[in-house]
Amino acid sequence: SSVPLDDIPVWTPTAGCSEKPLYQRNEKLDQKISLYSGDITKLEIDAIVNAANKTLLGGGGVDGAIHRAAGPMLVKECTSLHGCETGEAKITCGYGLPAKYVIHTVGPIAQGGVGEVEKKALRSCYKNSLTAATKNAARSVAFPCISTGIYGYPPEQAVHEALATVREYLDEHHDKLDRVIFCVFLPTDKELYLQNLPLYFPAE
Ligand code: ADP
Repeated sequence: SSVPLDDIPVWTPTAGCSEKPLYQRNEKLDQKISLYSGDITKLEIDAIVNAANKTLLGGGGVDGAIHRAAGPMLVKECTSLHGCETGEAKITCGYGLPAKYVIHTVGPIAQGGVGEVEKKALRSCYKNSLTAATKNAARSVAFPCISTGIYGYPPEQAVHEALATVREYLDEHHDKLDRVIFCVFLPTDKELYLQNLPLYFPAE
């Protein structure tokens, strides 16, 4: 059973819960953010983001789950894309998924540690995915925690790049998107997002 957008609660900050917000409140962004805990393949929204690898031909983790749920038509379309560079994003149809589109992005491999290169690449994943969404008139987009699984990016660092990049994009293009959903799969990631969302999307 799929989860329609109306069943995904909007995240609202609690006033006073963050002493030092990194960003000023922007009331235009109220009602635009969700934190969803569960399987991204179930979301009945415009676009889900896939943490793919450079081949775009499927893999483990969230990539495997998305390909299994979408069915073999997805890998067929992906084959025609001839791969994807780190930090870039390419869009396909969703096929058997409840989501209309899949945006495939390739996160940095961070097993050797995180430097400026990895940080910039991770930010590019979020930014280029949102650009691909808005170019295709997708107004609701869900992200998994890109690179923090098999690719080894420390989740407590990745959460800041994810939230900062989405905030920056929404500040510029709030009219083009109705909802950005952070889809977490692990309880530890849920905690990290609950801790850090108020810094990037503060209340008054
Ligand atoms: P990467 O190779 O970019 O590290 P992974 O798929 O290994 O990608 O992990 C990225 C994140 O996706 C991890 O937090 C993992 O727990 C999460 N994940 C795995 N399966 C799903 C799913 N079905 N829905 C949402 N997130 C998932």
